[in-house]
Amino acid sequence: MANEKFVSPEEIFGEYVFNEAVMKSRLSKSTVKILMRTIESGEPLDSSIADEVASAMKAWAIERGATHFTHWFQPMTGITAEKHDAFISPSGDGRVIMEFSGKELIKGEPDASSFPSGGLRETAAARGYTAWDCTSHAFVKEGTLYIPTAFFSYTGEILDKKAPLLRSVEALSNQAMRVLRALGNTTSARVISTVGPEQEYFIINRELYLKRLDLMLTGRTLFGAKPPKGQELEDQYFGRLRIKITEFMRDLDYELWKLGITAKTKHNEVAPAQHELAIIFDPATMAADHNLLVMEMMKRIAKKHGLVALLHEKPFSGVNGSGKHINWSMATNDGINLLEPGPKPIENEQFLIFLAAVIKAVDEYAEILRLSVASAGNDHRLGANEAPPAIISMFVGKELQAIIESIISGNTYVDNGRVKTNLGISSLPVITEDATDRNRTSPFAFTGNKFEFRMCGSSSNIAEACFTINTIVAQSLCEIADKLEKASDMPAAAMDVIKDIFSKHERIIFNGNNYSEEWVAEAARRGLPNIGNTVLAIKEIKAEKNKLVFEKMGVLNEKEIESRYEILLDNYTKTINVEALTLIDMTERQLLPSVLGYALKLSEIAEKAGSRTAKARLKTINELADKMDTALASLKTTVESAKGGDAFEIALYFREKVVSSMEALRAVIDATEPIIPADVWPVPVYADLLFRV
Ligand code: ADP
Ligand code: MG
Repeated sequence: MANEKFVSPEEIFGEYVFNEAVMKSRLSKSTVKILMRTIESGEPLDSSIADEVASAMKAWAIERGATHFTHWFQPMTGITAEKHDAFISPSGDGRVIMEFSGKELIKGEPDASSFPSGGLRETAAARGYTAWDCTSHAFVKEGTLYIPTAFFSYTGEILDKKAPLLRSVEALSNQAMRVLRALGNTTSARVISTVGPEQEYFIINRELYLKRLDLMLTGRTLFGAKPPKGQELEDQYFGRLRIKITEFMRDLDYELWKLGITAKTKHNEVAPAQHELAIIFDPATMAADHNLLVMEMMKRIAKKHGLVALLHEKPFSGVNGSGKHINWSMATNDGINLLEPGPKPIENEQFLIFLAAVIKAVDEYAEILRLSVASAGNDHRLGANEAPPAIISMFVGKELQAIIESIISGNTYVDNGRVKTNLGISSLPVITEDATDRNRTSPFAFTGNKFEFRMCGSSSNIAEACFTINTIVAQSLCEIADKLEKASDMPAAAMDVIKDIFSKHERIIFNGNNYSEEWVAEAARRGLPNIGNTVLAIKEIKAEKNKLVFEKMGVLNEKEIESRYEILLDNYTKTINVEALTLIDMTERQLLPSVLGYALKLSEIAEKAGSRTAKARLKTINELADKMDTALASLKTTVESAKGGDAFEIALYFREKVVSSMEALRAVIDATEPIIPADVWPVPVYADLLFRV
């Protein structure tokens, strides 16, 4: 690296992105104007410009080495989907020319019958379409022009995660603007939901990874005894980056910068081999696209370095799993952050109204927020003392807590001023305390001028959580606007609304330790839902109240909700099924044979040399082998006994019966592993995976 010529991020940032600057330099003035009206004000796209945009995009992409284009979309399962088409078209004389039409830019028709639709498409009409989402930038990656799209069915129902996000952004803007207008804002035109995701991940050695079928097929280790060293020394968090990791991260940063992604912060996380990457916030749809690209590039760049990026929520038991913090706020198009408290929050009625809207939303729709982060992988984290519990609550910090209390009680609020930190060292600058202190255990924490939703799993598409937050906050704002629009005496009416919401929804605020036992009991007393697993969370989408909010805000219709319900359950069942079959395969073909092989060796030594040690060990090993065999047989029976029928019942069966059967087998394997010789145990152990990077 030392001899390489230094390239400044300024030179390469966005090099592969068809962004506003490129549009301005390559499209006619009138076309840019039309396009920007859709991008910035959400006006319907005038498709007469499609041919001109397509032709400019093609020329630009070819200059960057592209031979193909793809409609890039986000189906309900998996992360992203793409089908590549070459630009080539026969010229009639045995040669080809490079072509890309407006029609091809605007609409695509992937073979949709193989994507989960939850019954939305009958096989006879198994058509799905992709539609260009011009609010997110097209880009070139590895010889292909990527066009961000939304995916929908022949009959117009949406089948992906992008379209509901786009709809929710509009709903939020519409309702927030009603409130702003009522409060007297005449200058802003729309409201944007801003999102900054922080991504956690593990990096391990690729050769070792390839020796573990469970990592390859399920993304996590299905067994593995606790290594002699875990995370107990707390020496990894913010620790010095190893050379290999530094090189990987540097490469990753550059590739992300070229794609116009503002990779900003990188550091070691709590567990060994665990790291984090945060990007600077973007409008929600862009943030979701960028996060998907971050995850994909992590995997690709890691491979180039002989490493593997693990994005699963719980690759290793016994050390922390990975999540994704979603920093979320609302801003007007003219740059006002609606969650900025300013120097005197008590007098900032606009801030208090928007704060109240979020508090009301989170309390009223805690179940669907919980659902938005539910996955088989995340079930291992939530409530396991490393991530927030499955109970949704909000942290607001001391200052806001005092303000909220004074508004509820009607007592005057005494501003104690913010504490200044005096270090007693004159050469160090004095630091003023932020309006909020930190509470890392809260699932939904106010962090100064935004909320941080901390329950999302590391592998999921953040679109799901983002469209849920947008939808429920839009609903709150809609109810608030209904009241304010009728009011004659504005500051008083606004204060009434604020007081009413704070009083009714104070129960959702909890500034204490969310990891504690006491909180679980206290939350139950307060009547807050505690939804322990994914299957139960999925059920919530069918509750009348929850269906209604998606329908009313125009984010999901009834059919789309039905299909999502089926898809989510089916996906859960399949995930656990693959895990169970993988564990069965590895036990049967790798673990048991090696244990029995070792037993045979011990029996020979015991017999020939009359070794007391060998005899004792043989006895233990034989007992463990028998237990392993029994637990294996039991897991097989449990999986085979799964009956068809109702998707919910099947998923619940897998959650309750198959998961516990897997855990029982794992317990035997983890007890066996530490007493089998290193050269006999057929797969790398935790110490190898976590410390040999
Ligand atoms: P913290 O110390 O609270 O984690 P950072 O400044 O490190 O705060 O920001 C964390 C993430 O929050 C970053 O992705 C950042 O861009 C994002 N962020 C900051 N302000 C906002 C905002 N107004 N809306 C959404 N995300 C934001
Ligand atoms: Mg943070």
